[in-house]
Amino acid sequence: MSAGGDSDERATSEREALGAPVQPRSQQDFDSSYEGRPPWDIGRPQAAFVDVVESGGLSGRVLDVGCGTGEHVLLAAAAGYDATGIDLAWAAIAQATEKARQRGLEATFLVHDALDLASLSGPFGTVLDSGLFHVLSDADRTRYAEQLHRVVTPGGRCYLLAFSDRQSGEWGPRRVSEQELRDCFVDGWRIESVEPATYEVNLHPGRAEAWLTTVVRTETP
Ligand code: SAH
Repeated sequence: MSAGGDSDERATSEREALGAPVQPRSQQDFDSSYEGRPPWDIGRPQAAFVDVVESGGLSGRVLDVGCGTGEHVLLAAAAGYDATGIDLAWAAIAQATEKARQRGLEATFLVHDALDLASLSGPFGTVLDSGLFHVLSDADRTRYAEQLHRVVTPGGRCYLLAFSDRQSGEWGPRRVSEQELRDCFVDGWRIESVEPATYEVNLHPGRAEAWLTTVVRTETP
């Protein structure tokens, strides 16, 4: 995770002064986001992931990394999959656990770091990432891809929905280019597709340009 510090704090207060939404970075930032309703918490799964599930894109055990309040884990669980969601923010995990109880669905939710996936009890046939990749620093993205490789079965797929550089404006998270995505999943991965998609948010204008990236784990790192 990005370290805090004076320059980060200065950047934060500048953004506040400009009236732009503050982008959470640290575990504490994310925890406080869930005291209210964060912009990404739309109360339903992202349409892009509904399409993945409906088109038969899941297989094996499903892991949602940075699962927030659990909509995509519950989507997979409702479709009959053994689904696990992890998130650094305990408040998100508490809400997700309560949603599962209310909906009568069985799923596993854990407070756990996406950069330490190797210590999870895997392996997983499918990984979902809705809005995590784009909050990670460059160094953390590399580590994340390495950690994913350790928990995904050979032939298993990861689906990542991230803010795209085709989205104008400064609000929201750092934009990601198609090339950055491709460069991150090189050794031990095959990029199946990087497609323009939509990331739905609950503040104006309700949607952002995104990339839906599908990567397949190959046999060797
Ligand atoms: N996938 C959810 C949340 C997206 S926001 C949804 O679609 O609604 C990004 C999420 O990643 C936040 O819930 C944040 O707490 C979590 N997160 C950020 N860094 C993380 C890390 N290192 N490990 C696990 N979760 C992390």
